[in-house]
Amino acid sequence: MTAPSDIDHGWAGSRRLLRLLRDLMKAGGSSQERLDKVVDLIAQHIVAEVCSIYAMRSGEMLELFASKGLKPAAVHMTRLRVNEGLVGLIAAQARPVALADAQGHPNFAYRPETGEEVYHSLMGVPIMRSGRVLGVLVVQNRTQRNYGEEEVEALETVAMVLAELLAGDRLLERPAGSGGAESDLMPARLSGITLNRGLAIGVAVPHHRGIVISQVVAENPDAERERLDTAMGEMRDALDAMLARQEVARAGEHREVLETYRMFADDRGWRRRMHDAVRGGLTAEASVQKVQNETRARMASIKDPYLRARLADLDDLGNRLLHHLLGLEEKRREDLPEDMVLIANDLGPAELLDYDQNRLRGVVLEQGAPTSHVAIVARALQIPMIGRCEGIATQAGEGEPIIVDGETGQVLLRPSASVRAGFQDSIASKKRQQEAYRAVRDLPAVTQDNQNVTLLINAGLMIDLTHLDDAGAEGIGLYRTEVPFMIRDSFPGVETQADIYRRILEHAGDKPVVFRTLDVGGDKLLPYWRGSHEDNPAMGWRAIRIGLDRPALLRQQLRALLRAAAGRDLYVKFPMISDVAEFSAAQALLQREMDRETALGGALPKAVRVGTMLEVPALALQLQQLLPLCDFLSLGSNDMLQFLFAADRSNPRLARRYDPLSPAMLSLVRDIAAQCAAQGVPFTVCGEMAGDPLEAMALLGCGVRRLSMTPSAVGPVKTMVRGLDSAALSDAINQFLTLPDHSIREPLRSYAIERNIAI
Ligand code: PEP
Ligand code: MG
Repeated sequence: MTAPSDIDHGWAGSRRLLRLLRDLMKAGGSSQERLDKVVDLIAQHIVAEVCSIYAMRSGEMLELFASKGLKPAAVHMTRLRVNEGLVGLIAAQARPVALADAQGHPNFAYRPETGEEVYHSLMGVPIMRSGRVLGVLVVQNRTQRNYGEEEVEALETVAMVLAELLAGDRLLERPAGSGGAESDLMPARLSGITLNRGLAIGVAVPHHRGIVISQVVAENPDAERERLDTAMGEMRDALDAMLARQEVARAGEHREVLETYRMFADDRGWRRRMHDAVRGGLTAEASVQKVQNETRARMASIKDPYLRARLADLDDLGNRLLHHLLGLEEKRREDLPEDMVLIANDLGPAELLDYDQNRLRGVVLEQGAPTSHVAIVARALQIPMIGRCEGIATQAGEGEPIIVDGETGQVLLRPSASVRAGFQDSIASKKRQQEAYRAVRDLPAVTQDNQNVTLLINAGLMIDLTHLDDAGAEGIGLYRTEVPFMIRDSFPGVETQADIYRRILEHAGDKPVVFRTLDVGGDKLLPYWRGSHEDNPAMGWRAIRIGLDRPALLRQQLRALLRAAAGRDLYVKFPMISDVAEFSAAQALLQREMDRETALGGALPKAVRVGTMLEVPALALQLQQLLPLCDFLSLGSNDMLQFLFAADRSNPRLARRYDPLSPAMLSLVRDIAAQCAAQGVPFTVCGEMAGDPLEAMALLGCGVRRLSMTPSAVGPVKTMVRGLDSAALSDAINQFLTLPDHSIREPLRSYAIERNIAI
C-alpha cells in the first residue's frame, strides 16, 4: 500500500517513486504499455485521481498520450494547441501550474470527451529535454487541493525522469526533417543580424558537445552530491585557468564580462537548486539538466537583453558542469576542422574561448544580440559573427560548406562553387585593401592642394582603442561613455568610472580623447535603470536632459573624468544639447565639480576643454551665441539627420528615404563649418557620414576639416583625402548645391570617378 501522500513526506517519498519509475524504464513491453503503467504509478503515489501525459506533436499540438483517470476514449483523441487550455499554457510558458480551482482559471478549456468536469484541482509541469518542451505531465484531484511548492518540485523531478523515458523510446520525437531531406541538400541563404563584421568561409561545426545523460535516478544521493561538488570545484579551477590564458588576460570589457561570468560559478541560488534536485533523487548530471531546463524556460519569456545574457551565462555554466561530470572535457579540441564556422543556438562568452582561435573563422547563432556577452568577446577576438539566424541550427549539417557574411548579416549554406569563388575573391581583395591602407597608415591625411585633414576614431569599448594606432588616427573624436555603463550590473561609482577613463587615457597616450557624457535614456536603456516607457524615445528624456534633471549622475561622471585626467588635457562634450542655455547649465555643473576638486585639494587636469554635440537643428540656429562659449563643436550627423528630416534613424522603412548627401543637410554643414572657421572653433563631424569615403568627401567640400569615424574607415577615408583637390571640390559642391535635387550623390560620384579619387 502506498502511504496517503508520499510526496507530502518529502524527498524520501519522491525518491522511492523515481526508483520505481527507473525500474519501469528497464522493464519490457510496448511504449504505450509502459506509459500506461507510469501514469498509474504516479497517480497512486501522489494520491491523485487523475494522472495524464500530453505529448507535443508536430504543428505545436499537444496530444493526450496516456491517462489514469480520464476516459480511455480521450487518449490519442484529445488535442490542445500550445497556449490552449491549462495544458497548452504550461507548454507555452514552460512553467508549472498548480491550481486548487482549475475550472475557475481563464485558460481552462473544457473537453467533454475526457470527463474531467468532476476534477477541481490541477497541477501540471512541462516535460522538458535540452530546453525543448516534449509534453506536459498533469495530475488532477476531485477536491480543491492546494498543491504545495514541494509537490510541484517533486512532480518536476518526475517529469525529468519521464523525459528520458520518452526520449529513449523516441515516442515523442517530432517527425524528422520537416524541411525534407532533398531540400536540405540545396544551397540555402539565411538572414540574421551582424554581431561582428567580416567575412568567413569554412565548414559548419555544430556546438553540441555529446552530452548524453544515461542515468537520471540516483542510486546513492550522498555520492551524487559529492560528484556534483567535485565537478563544481573542477569547473571553477578550469575557469580560473582559462581567465589566465594569454589572449584573454589583457584588459578590456571582454575581461570584465568573463570575470562576471566566473562569479556566477559561485552563485549560491544556482548551487542550491542543483543540490535540491540531488536531494530529490536525481543524479548529479540530471540535477544540472533540471536546473538548466528551468533556466532556459525563464530565458524564453524574458525580453530584457541584460537578464537574458545573465541566464545565458548560467546555461553555459550548466553545460560546462555537465562536461566535467561526464568527463568530456578532454575531447573538445580534437578533430576540429582547420576552418570551422561554429553553429549554436546561443553561446556563452567563455564557450567561445573553448575553441581554438586559430581554427575558428566565424560563428552563427540562432539567438544572440549586439549587446550579448558573446558578441563583445567576438569583437575583441575579431571573429565574424551573425546572430538571430533562425533555422541555422537545424539546417546546417556538420561538415557542410558555409559562408558567413558579416557585412550583410547573411549566411550561405552549401554555396555553389562560383559563389564560394566570389567570396574567396572578396576576402582576398579585402586583405589586399587592408594592406594598401596599412601602407598609408603613417602618411599624413593631406589633400593634393595641401589642406590638412584631421582623422579621428569613434570608440566605446576598450578594444576600439587598440585600433587607434593601427588605423593611423590622430585621436578619439568621440568616446561614447554610455557603452561601458551598458555592460555592467549596476551604475558604476565615481572611482570605477575614473578607473575606466584613466585606462582609456593611458591607452591613448599623447593622442587626445574627447569624452561625451552619458547619452542614455530613450532607447539606450541601462539594464539596471528602468526608465518609463516613452512613445518617442529618440526625442524623449535622454542624454543631457537626464543629466540636467538628475544632476547628481552627471556630476559624478564629471568628477570621475576630472580625476582620471589629472595632470593632462581633458576634452568633454555634452550630447543632445538643444539650446545655449542647456550648454551653459551643463558647463556650470562642470565648473562646480572643478571648484569642488580644488577645494578638496585634488589635482586638476592641465586644461579642460568643453564642447558640445550638435545634433538638434534648433542649436544650429544659435551658433552666434554658442560658439563664443565653447571650445569645440561636434556635429552628430546621425541624430542631426533624423531630426532635420523628421525621420527615425532606427526605422528600417526610412533607412534610404533621405540621403545624407541632400542639399539641405550639406548646406547646413557648409554654414556651420563657415561659422566655426570664422570664430576659430574646431569643428568635427562624428556621425556615420564621416566614415564613408564619398560622404566624407562631400563634407570636405563643405569646409569640414575634422572627421571622426569607426576605426576601419580611417584607411579608406585617408586614401580618398590624399587624392583630392579641396578647392576644386568645394567649387563643384557649391555648384551641386544650387540644384533642386533630392541628393547630390550621383554627380559627386561621377566627379570622383572622373578624377580617379578613391571613394
Ligand atoms: C550622432 O548622433 O551622429 C552621434 C555620433 O551620436 P550617436 O550615434 O551615439 O547618437
Ligand atoms: Mg547622437
